[in-house]
Amino acid sequence: MAKRIPVIAANWKMFKTKDEALEFIFAVNAAVPSRDEVESIICAPAILLNLLVKREGEHIRIGAQNMHYADEGAFTGENSPAQVKTAGAEYILIGHSERRSLFNETDKDVNLKMHAAFKYDLAPILCIGEQLDTREANKTKEVLDVQLDKAFEGVSKEQALKTIVAYEPVWAIGTGKTATPQMANDTIKDVRAKLSDLYGAEVAAQVRILYGGSVKPDNIESLLQESDIDGALIGGAALDHKNFLTFTKAA
Ligand code: PGA
Repeated sequence: MAKRIPVIAANWKMFKTKDEALEFIFAVNAAVPSRDEVESIICAPAILLNLLVKREGEHIRIGAQNMHYADEGAFTGENSPAQVKTAGAEYILIGHSERRSLFNETDKDVNLKMHAAFKYDLAPILCIGEQLDTREANKTKEVLDVQLDKAFEGVSKEQALKTIVAYEPVWAIGTGKTATPQMANDTIKDVRAKLSDLYGAEVAAQVRILYGGSVKPDNIESLLQESDIDGALIGGAALDHKNFLTFTKAA
């Protein structure tokens, strides 16, 4: 069975001006490991996509952070899947916890966006995660299983194989609290088991599952050493290009 190529994805959120984005891309272009060793992805604000795509080095890939699921329409301020695709993005973050909590995105929206991504040949980075009270009530598996069931509704095996899943405990995002490597790995094993229920063991063994939530240069290695953690989705710490290179080199 093919080895799972590690993924390091930076989530810039609503940070960086045009000049800052250019400074970053020029700093990392030539220094990241090759594409067949690590998938190094920058998920940038939509308005910066084209700028980055035009300057991305051969080993960098660009993703968007959000899009509408409709083909087109009267949705002022939104970006369509075709716009994201023709701007040159290859990946799309779907269901990030900030989209779910601050912009009221539901599991249904997440599912519609999954289908829109496949329609326009964008690889989804599907974000799932539990709140602190869920973790404390020992209901993490239950909650993540529902998120996965709903996100993958109507998604074929071939499409599932193109999906990257990012497990991001909501209580660890931007808080400085990281899940311990073992806790993250145990939960990711549960996610893989759920994918196995949905698509069979062979598919589940090939899907890349990332950890996200306060990943830093000093904890990346211990996280990546775990058996089932295939990379990381990193917010705050990946805004710094030196850190981004540290992450890609650790993978
Ligand atoms: P953080 O964010 O690394 O700043 O915790 C992760 C994310 O939101 O994807």
